[in-house]
Amino acid sequence: MQLINIKHPGDRVSFRQAVLQGLGRDQGLYFPEKFEPLSDLDELLTEDFVSRSAAILHHLLGDELGESTVHEMVSSAFDFPIKVTELDEQVRALELFHGPSLAFKDFGARFMARCLAEFHAGGPMTILTATSGDTGAAVAHAYYKQADIQVVILYPRGKISPLQEKLFCTLGENIHTVAVDSDFDTCQQLVKQSFEDEALRQDLGLNSANSINIARLLAQVCYYFEAAAAVSKVHETVFSVPSGNFGNVTAGLIARAIGLPYKRIIAATNANDTVPRFLASGQWDPNPTVTTITNAMDISLPNNFPRVLELGSRHGLPLEALLSSLSLDDRQTRKAIRALYARGYLADPHTALAWSALDSRLEDGEEGVFLCTAHPAKFLEVLENTLDVLVPLPPELEAVRNEKILSSTIPGDFDSLKQELQPLR
Ligand SMILES: *Cc1c(COP(=O)(O)O)cnc(C)c1O
Repeated sequence: MQLINIKHPGDRVSFRQAVLQGLGRDQGLYFPEKFEPLSDLDELLTEDFVSRSAAILHHLLGDELGESTVHEMVSSAFDFPIKVTELDEQVRALELFHGPSLAFKDFGARFMARCLAEFHAGGPMTILTATSGDTGAAVAHAYYKQADIQVVILYPRGKISPLQEKLFCTLGENIHTVAVDSDFDTCQQLVKQSFEDEALRQDLGLNSANSINIARLLAQVCYYFEAAAAVSKVHETVFSVPSGNFGNVTAGLIARAIGLPYKRIIAATNANDTVPRFLASGQWDPNPTVTTITNAMDISLPNNFPRVLELGSRHGLPLEALLSSLSLDDRQTRKAIRALYARGYLADPHTALAWSALDSRLEDGEEGVFLCTAHPAKFLEVLENTLDVLVPLPPELEAVRNEKILSSTIPGDFDSLKQELQPLR
């Protein structure tokens, strides 16, 4: 597989190089130069999730990794259930939160960990990543106790849910967690700055597990096919995706680029509405990030959006017809949580927001699939004060709820981060 740096299309790398480097020159994102259509889609849709996903990833990666290697990587990464639940005849929930960190990010983080294990040639390696809540846990669990790999996770202090924090800040060992006194965009910026610091990058063997890493995105392409296998008319299917950094939407568009013929995709955001406003006006005009009850999407500078644009310009996807985006505020999100609950479905706020966007935009004859990105119990505070219910904790959360938070706290500037990283150099 050949990838280019979107900022410098002359910079070409293999998948291996893109995974190991994370980010290219001038903070440019790597993205495949070309997508080939899948043959035998119908047959593919009849296969089980792991075999189908291995076939899709092998197709995407080309001859860089052997078929049986990819199959092994996929079956050890995707070793938890994925479910499609019918809400009614027209609408389905694609549940992506049955992995160890109870969020869809397990798919990308675990596959990326398998890629690094395959490609890493020894020497120090530090995974530096920023999280708005769920990436942290997925990454921490994917690398926990892995020899030779240090993991540093930055998150905005006080801006992730208490149980989200417990899931990854209580592990210790090779997992270092840093609460940054700022917002997620600052955390993300600190990661990018670290990559620009050549000495730091070399000393630590820096790699990022953010959705800027192409391995994560490619893994996420697979579950769109699982939904496609469950609907009755793929051509009439509309996906709704709760969106923050726009990795999930990018993956959905890649699925389209390799031939999954669904009808359109909705990127649902919270009040951080840079993209919906951009699609409406053509102006890229980010506002300061605001805090919402869908905190994993409190992002006003979505990292992956250049890849979305690339899918239109270089890869010829008809984005205008295919992609729409709308923003819902907390009041609408709570309303959606209640409406879904009244229909017997307990959804986390991000999921409820995506359902609501779908519900308002689905047309006659279409079939809807909303992506369920987190387990409801991860956001039980919001659910319990929106609904009059007690949300039972799954065993993964029960195990950590009384553990001690091990994070250190720093101000949101690069010098403070460098000091924090000093002991690892
Ligand atoms: C990360 C996350 C999102 C946003 O996904 P992107 O790929 O960044 O757009 C949505 N919901 C939950 C629960 C998340 O953790």
